[in-house]
Amino acid sequence: AYVLVTGASGFIASHTVREFLREGFRVRGTVRSQGKGEYLQKLFAKDGPFDFVLVDDITKDGVFDEAVKGVDAVAHLASPFYTTGVKDPQELIGPAVKGTTGILKSIQKNNPQVKRVVITSSVASIMSLASRKAPVRYTEKDWNEDAVKHVEENGLKSQGGFAYQASKTLAEKALWKFIEDEKPSWDAVAINPPYVLGDVIHECEKPEKLNTSVASFYEWAAGQKKEEDTASQLGNWANVHNVAYAHVKALTVPEASGGRFIVSSGPLAGQAFCDILHSKYPELKNVPVGKPGTSDDINKDANVFVGDHAAKVLGVKYESLEQTVVEMVESFKERKWL
Ligand code: NDP
Repeated sequence: AYVLVTGASGFIASHTVREFLREGFRVRGTVRSQGKGEYLQKLFAKDGPFDFVLVDDITKDGVFDEAVKGVDAVAHLASPFYTTGVKDPQELIGPAVKGTTGILKSIQKNNPQVKRVVITSSVASIMSLASRKAPVRYTEKDWNEDAVKHVEENGLKSQGGFAYQASKTLAEKALWKFIEDEKPSWDAVAINPPYVLGDVIHECEKPEKLNTSVASFYEWAAGQKKEEDTASQLGNWANVHNVAYAHVKALTVPEASGGRFIVSSGPLAGQAFCDILHSKYPELKNVPVGKPGTSDDINKDANVFVGDHAAKVLGVKYESLEQTVVEMVESFKERKWL
């Protein structure tokens, strides 16, 4: 089978492409520049058949019209993810929503033979951090009730975090509305991860350019955090290989049809990063010590995004945080970032 992966140059998407190739798929990626496409072609040379097409502005009408031709399935990952320096929430909402509706329309128009579409949503479209007091056990039944309202009320003054959450909420809602309204012959699945961590394989020239989730871990490993930061509860996390695998299974497991899947290993504390870094990489400088062994205590009243449904239906087997930290640090060392 032939699958189209949008935003193939990204952190999660590059792993997702590799997972598809290893499962025997042929993959076409969309990228924003020739250079990024060529980097991926080299990266996947031993994994299987990979080709790419240039799609620069995902907010343009019909921009995916050619890219969808001839494929059997689509995994849509391209979407902006940053929360600092947001001047206008539309920077995020525009590409998130128009990218999603755009690809769905192109499929309907030029390739309705597609069997299934998987969209990378997020726990951002599930959590209501302002209106629901922690600890909440969030499942796929929950929807973000806060972010869209916040953006409507605050406009250009919106907080970046809410702007991102609104972009993911509105994009996923647009998916399910499209399915309801258009009743296409193909079906869809949403994957909803929390902070995704793991080894970096995509093109990234320096740590300052890392994607948001890995960048937040890099600060710990690079000694940029303070002692008092260790007590912070950092939401929930998932390993990038687990998330990539979930995308592949979302397209191949019949029972996944129409589902949302939280892919999450549970809560994460800064202290847990420090404990693992000290035991595995004692040579790293300026990693805070904090209070070793207290991360369970820090996480005791944290929100939990329950990842059982993905384990059961998609067969995701969650990797440990220790393994994930090691994979991430090794990839930094390979690039001489540590
Ligand atoms: P990256 O920033 O590494 O990847 C984002 C991808 O989308 C890149 O390929 C990027 O292209 C592309 N992209 C971003 N903005 C635009 C735009 N305006 N027009 C066209 N393409 C664009 O982040 P991730 O891998 O983390 O994110 C991938 C997906 O996963 C996103 O949908 C994100 O919301 C979602 N997600 C991520 C989580 C995480 O913790 N990492 C958690 C939950 C969901 P380019 O390489 O050219 O910049």
